[in-house]
Amino acid sequence: MTGVGTGDQAATGPVLAADLGGTKITAGLVTTDGTLLARCTVPTQAQRGPDAVVAALVGALAAVQDDAVAAGAAAPVAVGIGSAGVVDSATGRIVSATDSIPGWAGTELGPRVSRALGLDARVLNDVHAHALGEATFGAGVGRASLLLVAVGTGVGGAVVRDGVVVTGARGLAGHVGHLPVPEAVGVPCTCGRSGHVEGLASGPGVLAAYRRAGGSAEDTREVVARAEAGEGLAGRVLRTCSFAIGRMIGGLLNVTDPEVVVLSGGMAGAGALWWQGMRDGVAYEAIDLVAGTAVLPATAGPDAALFGAAHFARPREGTR
Ligand SMILES: [Zn+2]
Repeated sequence: MTGVGTGDQAATGPVLAADLGGTKITAGLVTTDGTLLARCTVPTQAQRGPDAVVAALVGALAAVQDDAVAAGAAAPVAVGIGSAGVVDSATGRIVSATDSIPGWAGTELGPRVSRALGLDARVLNDVHAHALGEATFGAGVGRASLLLVAVGTGVGGAVVRDGVVVTGARGLAGHVGHLPVPEAVGVPCTCGRSGHVEGLASGPGVLAAYRRAGGSAEDTREVVARAEAGEGLAGRVLRTCSFAIGRMIGGLLNVTDPEVVVLSGGMAGAGALWWQGMRDGVAYEAIDLVAGTAVLPATAGPDAALFGAAHFARPREGTR
C-alpha cells in the first residue's frame, strides 16, 4: 500500500468494514466521508467454532463488496474489522477472548481475511472500533480527545487522541469495567475477580443487584421502569449502580483528562434517573478542573464500530 502512485487512490477509495460480536456480524462498505454504501448482518455462528466464524465474516464482506460494486461503487481499498476479544493489531491476531466465541483466541483473523479477499486487512477490538467511530463520525467530531464509556451487557471503554485509539502494550487498554468502585465491594465480576464496576453496574449487574436487594423483575428494563415509576427499592438500586458508573468516569477524568466523554450502550439509554446518578457520581469523584467535562450520549448510531474499523484500516500516506 505504500507504492508510489497508489497513495491517492488508496486514501480515497471505500473500505470494507465489519463489526464482529458474539451473536452477529455486521459488514458494510464505508466511503471516506463516512457514508455506508452497503450493509448486511449475519449470525456469528460462534458455537460452530472459529473456522465457521471466519467463513461467515468473509461471506458477509464479500456479499457487501459484490452488492456495492454492482451498484456502481468503487472497489474497496482495504478491510477493517472490529472484533470481540483482545486483538494484536500489528498482526491481526486474536490474543484472548471470552466464551462468547469459543476458541476465538489464537485466530489469525487479519491474515485469513486478507488472503480470502485479496485486500490488506486490519483488525482492532470492537470497543476500540466503536470509540474511533464516535471520535471520527459521532459525538467526538472536532474534539482532540475522547473517552468512550459503553454500559450495556458489559462495561467497556476506550480513549481516542487525535484520531488514534489507545490500545495499550497488549491490546487490553480501555477495559474500564474492571476498575474497582466501593459500591461493588464483594460483588463478583465477569473477569473472575470481585469489586469491579462491571459486576455491579452493567445491565445484567443492575438486575442482579435488584434481586440481591430482595426485588423481583424479569429484566433490567423492568428495574429501570420500576425506578422511573417511583418504586423505592428499584430507585435505590439504579441510583447506586449509576452513581458507581459516575465515580468510575470521574476517576478516569482525573487520570486521562479527555476533552469529552461519550456514553453508549443500553444503560446510557435508560433514562433521566440513570443519568442523574451518573452525573452525581462524576461530581463526587472528579477533581474540580475536570469535573465540568462534557458527558454526552453517543451519536454515531449502531454502526459506529463499522465507521471506526474503516477509519482504522484506511491507508494513509506515511503510515503504511
Ligand atoms: Zn472485572
